[in-house]
Amino acid sequence: MVKAEGVHKSFGAAHILKGIDLEVAPREVFCLIGPSGSGKSTFLRCINHLEQINAGRLYVDGDLVGYRQKGDKLYELKDSEVALQRRDIGMVFQRFNLFPHMTALENVIEAPIQVKGETRAVARARAERLLDRVGLSDKAGNYPSQLSGGQQQRVAIARALAMEPKLMLFDEPTSALDPELVGDVLDVMRGLAEEGMTMIVVTHEMGFAREVGDALVFMDDGVVVESGHPRDVLTNPQHDRTKSFLSKVL
Ligand code: ATP
Ligand code: MG
Repeated sequence: MVKAEGVHKSFGAAHILKGIDLEVAPREVFCLIGPSGSGKSTFLRCINHLEQINAGRLYVDGDLVGYRQKGDKLYELKDSEVALQRRDIGMVFQRFNLFPHMTALENVIEAPIQVKGETRAVARARAERLLDRVGLSDKAGNYPSQLSGGQQQRVAIARALAMEPKLMLFDEPTSALDPELVGDVLDVMRGLAEEGMTMIVVTHEMGFAREVGDALVFMDDGVVVESGHPRDVLTNPQHDRTKSFLSKVL
């Protein structure tokens, strides 16, 4: 579903991603861990072309992200074509960034109506199903300020799902939450995984990675240091850098 081949990304002189190779299979829960500043968020942002890569290739569902290839030349896609690619990719951030002036329900129906041109009735019916699924059917009329952080994050997940994405990207979705609110969000993610959603999850929740993850990558300083099944990497890391990182977070 996602394939990265030698992906490089720099910000000015700062070389952040230094040749990332990885592959995420359909229906896989792919966990990405690593120290602060290692490039995890940058990599996620490259997948939906919020950042442009400087070298390498990134594919989502077989399509080159942000470019069209003719022969060995790459041509940048038009904004409208990039927008089409992004429609299929849901993203959930650490900060919930809901639209503050809209209720939970309005947040969830906004993109399907504006981007896909759905009728309000169709968008609303799906939004109600999604809010029910994340356990918030009784909060549909609440504004973000009237929701807990965990509830806001579950609305953010429902909002991303409303676009019926084929891939979901999660960037530390629980790390801004009070500990007692983390479980509800992870439960929603676990449910999504069970339904077969392809997910890339940047997380510090090693329990989630171990129980739900199908693959885990440890990234440090812009490179993939180690990858494998979460059980193996977490219990039997091969590299010193992985061991040292895990000894701090486990
Ligand atoms: P964290 O665990 O703290 O979220 P991370 O692994 O997600 O860290 P990134 O956010 O990807 O790390 O950042 C990697 C590096 O890239 C950092 O040194 C950061 O300062 C730099 N960086 C990220 N975005 C930009 C930008 N738009 N311009 C300049 N530098 C950036
Ligand atoms: Mg980050």
